[in-house]
Amino acid sequence: MSGRFDGRVAVVTGAANGLGRASATRLAGEGANVVVVDIDGDAAAAVARGLPTESIGVRADVSSETDVDAYVAAAVDRFGRIDLHHLNAGVFGTFTPIPDLTVEEFDRVMAVNVRGQFLGLRAAFRRYAVQQSTGAVVVTASIAGLTGSADLLAYQTSKHGVNGLVHGAAVYGGPLGIRVNAVAPGIVPTELFAAAATTTGGKNDMESRASTTPLRRAGTADEIAAVAAFLLSDDAAYVTGQIVSADGGATVVNTVRPSG
Ligand code: ADP
Repeated sequence: MSGRFDGRVAVVTGAANGLGRASATRLAGEGANVVVVDIDGDAAAAVARGLPTESIGVRADVSSETDVDAYVAAAVDRFGRIDLHHLNAGVFGTFTPIPDLTVEEFDRVMAVNVRGQFLGLRAAFRRYAVQQSTGAVVVTASIAGLTGSADLLAYQTSKHGVNGLVHGAAVYGGPLGIRVNAVAPGIVPTELFAAAATTTGGKNDMESRASTTPLRRAGTADEIAAVAAFLLSDDAAYVTGQIVSADGGATVVNTVRPSG
């Protein structure tokens, strides 16, 4: 079998479920050895066992500096190098009007989605510097990082923050041969998103929201993983610093004068 990622070692965080699991599956399917990182270590190990290449599961809380250093060490210990990072682990947050949003909830979301992504990005750059070679990073952003909602302040603020990480890291990494991009999913009914929908009494009704997008449907985790894989691959050799939406066209609709 020859694939785009033969002989490459990839780390995917938040890979026990949803988008991360789909990404790990896609990268392994194209030849990569994958380090499946998740706060749920048993589930990470189970995902790794199911992959077609030699892969390992590692338990880590990406918001912990110690844990991030530990998953990098585990990856290097097993495979000797890391070529690709998909920094995907994240939490969604609750639908809460701004006056009711607690500091605890705000900090919880920022700790994983911003500090966690920063720690993963820093670890990637430190590792690539040691390897003296090129590397690629893709971050899971969100269309919530490109738009505003009335009741999703913590999550959308965190995802706007992720864009800043990508832009700065791309400028720093470019001369070193390190590309950094993001995939920004729209409506993708993963476990996490579905749980948010049921806990808000149907307010986050994904099917009706998705039916208003240009492609008239929700996306799948595999469709997001395909974009992440493209951004990590040599097919995207001239692409860096980009936030690539995979959202069925949701972000280009003019809501002031909808075209139907
Ligand atoms: P989505 O794929 O839509 O982002 P999921 O809930 O399906 O959402 O997947 C998110 C993954 O991230 C889960 O497997 C979850 O366990 C993992 N995760 C959440 N918080 C952390 C964290 N702090 N460290 C590592 N993994 C995390």
